[in-house]
Amino acid sequence: MFPREHKESGRLFASMREYSGLFFGILLLFVFTILWFVPTALTIRKSASTLARESARRVGSNIESTMHRSADAIASAAEEVGITPDRYEFILKRLLGSEDGLQSVSLIGMDGSEMFHLDRIAVHKENMPLPQPAVAVVRNALAGEAGIGEIFFSDILEPRTYLAAPVRTIGKVKGVIVGEFNLRPLISFLQDTSLPEGHIYVVDKNGFQILHPELSEFLRHPNYLSRGIVQKVITERRVMDGLGALDGYKNDNGVTVFAVGMPLDVGGWSIFTEQPQSIAFASVWQTLFIALGIIVFGALALILLFRNHRFLVGSNIKLKEMLVDLDNSGKMLVRRDLDLSRANARLLELDDMKSQFVSTAAHQLRTPLTVLKWSLNELLEGDFGSLKKNQKELLTDVVAANKRLINLVNDLLDIARLEDDQGGMKMERQDIATVMKNVISQFQKVLKEKNIKFSFEHPRDSLYVVLDKEKMGIALYNLIDNAIKYTLPKGSILVTLVGVDKEIHISVKDTGIGIPEEEKERIFSKFFRAHNAMLMETYGSGLGLSVVKDIAEKHHGSIAFRKNEGSGSTFILTVPAA
Ligand code: ADP
Repeated sequence: MFPREHKESGRLFASMREYSGLFFGILLLFVFTILWFVPTALTIRKSASTLARESARRVGSNIESTMHRSADAIASAAEEVGITPDRYEFILKRLLGSEDGLQSVSLIGMDGSEMFHLDRIAVHKENMPLPQPAVAVVRNALAGEAGIGEIFFSDILEPRTYLAAPVRTIGKVKGVIVGEFNLRPLISFLQDTSLPEGHIYVVDKNGFQILHPELSEFLRHPNYLSRGIVQKVITERRVMDGLGALDGYKNDNGVTVFAVGMPLDVGGWSIFTEQPQSIAFASVWQTLFIALGIIVFGALALILLFRNHRFLVGSNIKLKEMLVDLDNSGKMLVRRDLDLSRANARLLELDDMKSQFVSTAAHQLRTPLTVLKWSLNELLEGDFGSLKKNQKELLTDVVAANKRLINLVNDLLDIARLEDDQGGMKMERQDIATVMKNVISQFQKVLKEKNIKFSFEHPRDSLYVVLDKEKMGIALYNLIDNAIKYTLPKGSILVTLVGVDKEIHISVKDTGIGIPEEEKERIFSKFFRAHNAMLMETYGSGLGLSVVKDIAEKHHGSIAFRKNEGSGSTFILTVPAA
């Protein structure tokens, strides 16, 4: 158990180590992207803020300078009237003529009543009570302080206000000059803005919108003190860059906007810019998408790289393992080969020893067996006195057994001779019919005994073969010997010699017991005997056909077996013709 768990936890750690590289890579990518994105987003926001402040400042200073010019004109007219009171009519006319923004001008006495009134549309309204919006600013001017009044809307729905300055004679306030100022021309400043999709508006010190690029908008006269940035600019009188937490707000159309604000040097007014955040910070969103894209695609690329790397590393490891296996197999094969060679050499040695032993034993046995054969024959023929019947029977069995032994020894000697290459082959060109006749002559006696009809057919012309006479004789002998052995009395044997192309076919055909189909493959193996042969003829070494095969091959020929149409078998020995 332990080694397996150990191995698995090892693999887990290994893969954790492998994956930690990937995680670390993705983390780095994430951190670097964020580090790039945050300052970039801030820069984009800052530049949006700078652009908005620039617009507000430009429009604001236009408004300020217009208002200041009119206020200054009223103040210098008041000063002039204080020095030359008789010329007030002329001075006021000149004032109205020079200041387009002024709708009317009046000289107010110390009691607050209008002493002189000059209107641009020339409707004379002298000695009229002061209009309500002018009351406060006139009162302040009588108290010695020039100023600007509340915003109000005229009969023709124009935004207007009053500018007033005290008339002083030798330092003492003697009256007030008040001008009705038309704000409508200022709208053109607000319309001239470079803010995309945005606008600029102005609120008074109470948070009421007093200027807006669209007339209908400021006619509503809404109050924007509820907007955090508006309240802050009015109360703290400082520039708000729009980047603070509460600087943005939802406008009257429900759009979330980005706003900057700054105080104006006129009557406590403040100016604001307003743009939809989606447009002001569009680049921020674009940058965010790019950042997300970098993270996602970067992570994907890292994963792909990692996988490929792992695959390559894995393949490499496998390849190395395979090479090591191959190397080991190679070494093992070399070792096996060496072992086999040694074993083969040893076997050859043993085989040689066996052949030597068989050959020596057979030689040693043959002489005493032959002596025994002659002695037994003499005994049997009564050379040493007549034998009783049972003695004769016993001796006949002994003679047969002795014959079988001699045959076995002969077979063994044949094999030993064939295996012993030292002797070699004594090849000579011979007429095969002559060799065959020689062999056949040895069987005359047994053929007669068994009453077997024997025929030998061959062409009239000689058939020459290069052969070792002794060995070819053994082969032919074995074939005919078998034919006789496995043919019942009164059977027949036909031996034929035929020349076919460059070959000589020597066939031995008998009407004997034949060879069972299932055993025919094995009859050329050493010591093999078919079961029907063993039933019929108990004697047989099973060596004869293997000797024939060996001799045929040594003559560059072959031996084949064929089942006869009727009964019996045919053996065909084929050798090259010479
Ligand atoms: P054996 O000493 O038994 O004859 P052989 O090697 O000469 O040994 O023959 C092998 C076997 O082949 C025989 O035992 C026999 O079964 C079969 N055989 C050989 N020749 C013949 C034949 N002419 N007819 C039938 N069977 C044969």
